[in-house]
Amino acid sequence: MKALVYHDPGEKAWETAPDPKIEAPTDAIVQITSTTICGTDLHILKGDVPEVLPGTILGHEAVGLVVETGSAVTTLTEGDRVLVSCISSCGRCRFCREGHYGLCIGGGGWILGHTTNGVQAEFARIPFADTSLYKVPAELSDEQVLFLADILPTSYEVGVLNGGVTPGDTVAIVGAGPIGLAAILTAKLYTPRHIVAIDLEPARLAKAVEFGADTTIDNGRQDAVEKMLELTGGLGADVAIEAVGVPETFELCTELVRPGGRIANVGVHGHPATIHLEKLWIKDVTITTGLVDTNTTPRLMQLIAEGRLDPTVFATHRFPLEETMGAYDVFANAGANYALKVVLAAQPLLLEPELHRDLVTA
Ligand SMILES: [Zn+2]
Ligand SMILES: [Zn+2]
Repeated sequence: MKALVYHDPGEKAWETAPDPKIEAPTDAIVQITSTTICGTDLHILKGDVPEVLPGTILGHEAVGLVVETGSAVTTLTEGDRVLVSCISSCGRCRFCREGHYGLCIGGGGWILGHTTNGVQAEFARIPFADTSLYKVPAELSDEQVLFLADILPTSYEVGVLNGGVTPGDTVAIVGAGPIGLAAILTAKLYTPRHIVAIDLEPARLAKAVEFGADTTIDNGRQDAVEKMLELTGGLGADVAIEAVGVPETFELCTELVRPGGRIANVGVHGHPATIHLEKLWIKDVTITTGLVDTNTTPRLMQLIAEGRLDPTVFATHRFPLEETMGAYDVFANAGANYALKVVLAAQPLLLEPELHRDLVTA
């Protein structure tokens, strides 16, 4: 089969790789019909994630068809259409039994395209298939559910739910990339009073308005803290969601939040950030962090099926799967290309007429 293989920092190739095989009775083999590239994949390619060994197939977000199951897999059969989630769950360890699949200590957690081969490939081996794959209702397209593999549950669980967004809240979202935009979409499920998107890039702020932000602050030209205080009668945001992953944006969140408010960090940080306890200790703020558990995936999929949530707005570019290298170039220059998420679709398998048109014009 063909797959996107990581070789060394800065080096990757779309090349022939061994077909995946069932290695444990709980495995399934999935033929990938759609996959996408994540900011995390770019971090891996920079060498920021040293656990990823040369030779690893990248990718942790996909939709596909089950083509083979191990002897212990009982809920899936050949031909089932499934969402492959970024988080695998052994289903048995202490954390999985609490719904904290992201913390799995039984061999799951974030393993695909990390410590084991991923899904930017024609086929992938999915460990713990029964508890890690989600059947996709026939009426939903690949593209409608693909972003449930990572960004939707990540922003919803680690941002909106950890931040305790409730009706009537003013929610500040720092960072208007895909994660920040997914936080806007899922915060809106709770009828906040006001969603304020903060970013340095005017094009991203325009996107934030399309996704439902009520106010935007260009932090390069305006003082975000001053503006937030103006909007909230001098108090600050009820919830501040950090969706970037650099020290400055985390520290900004601690200044944007009101006394008694909540700061939910979603960004993946590579450097230490300072918590100004000398100012914060008296403010009764709650700070949360985390990796997604994906335990809300079924709930979010139901909302999509009911027409209450439409993640297809993230798909800005579409490529045939074998053009993965070109898709990486576009995604790596997301700003210049106005890219949010790129969809890589296997051909000619399951090509819907509409998608085909997009591929031809891409
Ligand atoms: Zn991802
Ligand atoms: Zn587990």
